[in-house]
Amino acid sequence: MSLLLQVDESLKPFNSFGVDVRASLYAEARSDDDVHEALQCSQQHNLPLLVIGGGSNLLLTKDVPALVLRMATRGIRVVEDDGQRVVVEAEAGEVWHAFVLWTLEQGLSGLENLSLIPGTVGAAPVQNIGAYGVEIKDVFAGLTALDRQSGAIRDFTLAECDFGYRDSVFKQQPGRWVILRVRFALSRAASLHLEYGPVRQRLSEQGIEQPTATDVSRAISSIRSEKLPDPTVLGNAGSFFKNPLVSAALAAELKLAHPGMIGYPQADGRVKLAAGWLIEAAGWKGFREADAGVHRLQSLVLVNYGSATGLQLLALARRIQEDIEQRFAVQLEMEPNLY
Ligand code: FAD
Ligand code: NAP
Repeated sequence: MSLLLQVDESLKPFNSFGVDVRASLYAEARSDDDVHEALQCSQQHNLPLLVIGGGSNLLLTKDVPALVLRMATRGIRVVEDDGQRVVVEAEAGEVWHAFVLWTLEQGLSGLENLSLIPGTVGAAPVQNIGAYGVEIKDVFAGLTALDRQSGAIRDFTLAECDFGYRDSVFKQQPGRWVILRVRFALSRAASLHLEYGPVRQRLSEQGIEQPTATDVSRAISSIRSEKLPDPTVLGNAGSFFKNPLVSAALAAELKLAHPGMIGYPQADGRVKLAAGWLIEAAGWKGFREADAGVHRLQSLVLVNYGSATGLQLLALARRIQEDIEQRFAVQLEMEPNLY
């Protein structure tokens, strides 16, 4: 028995919103055995098990009557290498950005556009993290997870993860799987994704004409540091709403009424609208009520100025959803996981 259980533990340091709620029990997993032990322990105490990583995609609205298990497993290894394509496996508790930097130091490209995303490797598949035109599904080579229903450990292929836009089978079946380790197929030859305007612009400002994967990572990290609030300074969970996918007809109608509106046509005929644009156009940018607010530079990010509760943040989110629905007939879906 190596698991150290804490009773009635504050989760404030373990969620990037900095919301102060308590867990009935709290523990950290440093091995697969710890995960098995936590599962048994939660059953013995008749408590659900809530697995978390960095807590950067959570909105905790009340005390959590669960055993909260923070994944703190470590380890990165190369599992295949044919000289060009290299498969790297990382344990769930590895810090995502540190892992991205490690791959770049090995001369491997594929994860550079996902630089500086907070959180852990194990949570990355849960919402198929994405940024600047790349999602982890694009470099995914498999993962190993524990099925909490049967206690069995199994591997998942790309198809079995059912990845979608900020979505996966792990998000669709909350509480069923504990992701233990994830594999990524990376490349020694850089095939860069520079479609997003700000990335090309930043590289060009820096006079870089033939960027390496590391140049792209640095450019993206600098853009993100300027645009996004640092959760250690101002509590937030990144984008609070997903970008909505709407019919081409609705997008055309809205564009007529709002010529400045941003929309990106998708392969399936729908149009992806920029949720941040809608929220800003509705006048919410910089809004603040008590300690819950909308970031002054980035309307898609809700912030906790200090002592906002999860319920206050949720109430603000619901007001924004209702307003956007009334003004634009568009439903905004929340991105963080609500507990
Ligand atoms: P947590 O918040 O701890 O958990 C998220 C969910 O995953 C929970 O439901 C939890 O139960 C589950 N989970 C966690 N670990 C495991 C596991 N090992 N097995 C099974 N389930 C697990 N997201 C993007 O996609 N793109 C971005 O560009 C991006 N930018 C961000 C910027 C900021 C400033 C912030 C604060 C957040 C941003 N996010 C972004 C959201 C967030 O960083 C990601 O979703 C990240 O993957 C969450 O990792 P985490 O370890 O913090 O997960
Ligand atoms: P931005 O550059 O201001 O663009 C606004 C939105 O337009 C983005 O959300 C992006 O959608 C979309 N977009 C921009 N250029 C596009 C292109 N060439 N093709 C298709 N879609 C395009 O966005 P931002 O807020 O600064 O974020 C930059 C990137 O980081 C985005 O990919 C965003 O998803 C990611 N990010 C995510 C979070 C999070 O918590 N989920 C937080 C911060 C940043 P997509 O979001 O679909 O890419």
